[in-house]
Order: sequence, then structure tokens, then C-alpha cells
Amino acid sequence: MALGSGAAHPFVPDIRARPWAQLLGPGPTLARWRRSLRALLSADGGARALEDAARVRAARWAVAYESVPFWQARFQAASCARARLHEVCETLPPLERADVQAARNTLTPHVSPTRLPWAFRDVQGGVTSGSTGEPLRFRMSAPAYLSFFPVVDLALAWYGVSRPRPGAGYVLLDALGHSPEYQTWLPLFHGLRFSKITVGRTKWRERLQAAAPAVVTGDPDALAGLLSVDVRPRLVLSSAFSLSPRLRAQLVSHLRCPVVEYYSAAELGPLALRCPADGGWHVLTPYVHLSTSAPGASGTAAVGDEAVDHGSSPGRLLVDDLRNDALWLLRYAVGDRGEVRPAVAPCACGLFTPRLLRFEGRAAVQFGTGSDAPPWDPARLAPSLGRLGVDEYQVLELAPGRVRLVYRGPVELDDRTCLDLGARLRAIAGRAVRLELERRPGPWRRPGEKPRPFVPLAPATGGLGGRA
Ligand SMILES: [Zn+2]
Repeated sequence: MALGSGAAHPFVPDIRARPWAQLLGPGPTLARWRRSLRALLSADGGARALEDAARVRAARWAVAYESVPFWQARFQAASCARARLHEVCETLPPLERADVQAARNTLTPHVSPTRLPWAFRDVQGGVTSGSTGEPLRFRMSAPAYLSFFPVVDLALAWYGVSRPRPGAGYVLLDALGHSPEYQTWLPLFHGLRFSKITVGRTKWRERLQAAAPAVVTGDPDALAGLLSVDVRPRLVLSSAFSLSPRLRAQLVSHLRCPVVEYYSAAELGPLALRCPADGGWHVLTPYVHLSTSAPGASGTAAVGDEAVDHGSSPGRLLVDDLRNDALWLLRYAVGDRGEVRPAVAPCACGLFTPRLLRFEGRAAVQFGTGSDAPPWDPARLAPSLGRLGVDEYQVLELAPGRVRLVYRGPVELDDRTCLDLGARLRAIAGRAVRLELERRPGPWRRPGEKPRPFVPLAPATGGLGGRA
């Protein structure tokens, strides 16, 4: 339903359109996840959550061995007996995006609906945005689809913010405008009124103020819109791409509420929260188990890329999803890199979880293809670029061995910064790369266009680590 301009009960038609059972069915699962996530706020609770997650993970691998055709084939190829499955599963080749694309139907367990009801009931279909390679079709069980709500509860408790009252607003701000605005009621999430509002559409500020949001989520482009509106949310959550330190500071100063960054993927849901104490990431233990492939170790790893910076490059992140009963994404190479450290002590921010460090963005773009030397992944420059304090940047490959950094920011980057970036580029590419800098005054993206931080000379190959 499109947002109207003052109907007495604008949410009624949407509620009527969906049966109550469908709205409330995932309630018990979400309540369990809410408790597990809140437990991460203490060392004892965090340790218990880790044990629970390990049990859930073992159970999921057992189902994979017994009932998921894709994984049965992998175990068979490894001549794995039932008794050794938990040892062998750690050595199987990663599940690549291309596998999900090609074999999606074989990633669903063949079991009776009574055993895994959420694998069959109210399953949502979806397609990833394609910003990290070819768009990927996926399906998601109803609780997994709603698994963001317990994360919001954790973030509220983490910052000591009281829960919003029933009827308060919850706004998804959208800057892309690819889909219609709508609103609905969230009986499973404190009875909040949900509105999706597109920044830039006629009277969007009026609609946002009328929604009186207690919680706002969106990507950094959309959240920047909050700076021009007088609203008082209790919590803001940002994801999709990196929130610049400057925009974060502006949002905190304008809104006077916590701004929490989270790491998420459309086909999985939320994976980690950014730590306000040290900028690392807290893995959402009850939802996912994260591990990394050793550089060059796996038969499907991007050997060419790993060879470039052997020893200092973080591995590819492998995700065991512990939520979605409709798709068995295990050892899933989500397309990011990082280093996973076990939980050893509570963090200064209060959370007790495994940590994700040296996190590097999506690796779906290669520079240097077509030359004799191995191609390299420019996304590995992202951590250095993230520290520059610029508002927006784009790295363009002009020719093999020659790139231009276009940026928008308050000050001109100095020679020292340029030298440091050049050295980092050389380390990543494994050869000299000529770096040019260009400061541009205004935003260069068209409204509604997704950011493309790294633009290769040749078209993207659809992701590193494509299977031979
Ligand atoms: Zn922390």
C-alpha cells in the first residue's frame, strides 16, 4: 500500500491482507533468538550462547549430511563416513556463489515438513542486489527473514536505550527508490508501525516526521537525509556499505542517539555489529559461525589473488548460517575477507563474542586482468581509504598498472597520504601501480545509483574464486 496523506488507520488494509497466524507464527523462534543475542551482553551469557551455537551448527551439518543433496554429494566425494562428518565438514570446498546460483534446489533438505516446518512454511523468495557480482536468487524461512528484529533489541540494550512503546514508528529509509513505499504493523516487534520511505520523493520529510520514528535503518546515503529533518529517533542502524566517520559524527551530533553499524548480506541477514570501542566487528554468534579459508589452501580459493600478498592477506570469510531452514548455506564464501578470533574476554563495549578483524569489503572486482601478471583485488585498499576522512571515493583503473582515486572531502589529500596509498597499492598488486588523485567538489553518483567504489578496466568477472 502506498503511503497516503492522513488516513485514520493506514495500517489496517495491510493487516487484513495477511493472516494473523502468518504474522505471529515465527514469534517463539524470534523470542529465543532475542534471548540468545541479549545474553551476549555478559561473559557467562556469551559463553552459553557460544555453546548453544556450536550445538545448532553440529545439528545443521548432520542434516546436511543426511538430507541436503548438495552436501551429500560433497561428503560422498570426500568418502566421508557418518562418524567423521564433523571433522570432514571443516575440509570440504567452500560453497561458492556460483554453486548457489546453479544448485539452489539441491540446498534444501529433503525431510518431512513436520521435522523442519520453517523450511516449507511462509518461505520468502529474494534476489541479492547484484552490487557484489551477479544477482543471486535465494529463499528464506519466515523467522530468518525477520531475524533483524532481535538484533535491534540487542542494539537497544547494548546502548541502554529503553524499548519503544507499541505504536511508535520504525522507518526503513531508502535512497535507491527501486521499490514502492509501504507501511505495515509489526506485532512481533513491540507493535511498532513500520514505514518504508524513499529519500527524495515528494514530501518524504513530511512522511518521515509523521512516522515519528523511534528506530531508523538504512544505508549511509539514505541516513544522510536525516540531517535535514527534525526527528528524534532513539537508535539508528546503518549497513550496506561503510559509514564514513564524518557522517557518523554528523548523525550523532544532529540526532543525539546511538548510530550502530552492522554487517549484513541479503541472502543471510545480519552477521556482525561494529564495535564502538575499537572499530572491530562482533560476530552475532547465535546466528552465524564464521571461519576463514587459509590463503591458497582450498581447491576453490582464488589462488592468483592470494599469491599476490601471501602471508599478510586475511582469508576469505566462510559463513555457516544457523537460521535459515529453507536454504543450507554452510561454508558459504560470502565474498568478503577477514580474520576471525575466538571469544576470550568481554570487550570494553560490553559484548562477549568472537571478533571479526581486518574486515575487507566485497571482493567481486578485479584489477589487472588481461595483463601477464595475476589480477588483484582493489577492495583490499578499502581499509586504508576508510581512514582518509573523505566523504566519498571511487578508484578507477585507467590502464593495467595505473589507477585514479577520485574523492570528495573537506581537505585536499597531502603528499604523505599519496605515498602511503601508493605503497599499499604496490603491496596489494604485487607490482608498481601509478596512482593519480583527483578531488571533485560534488557527489558524482546519480540519485538512486548504488556506489561502485572500485571500477575495473575490464568488466567484473563475477567474483573471485570462481570454480574451475
Ligand atoms: Zn566491542
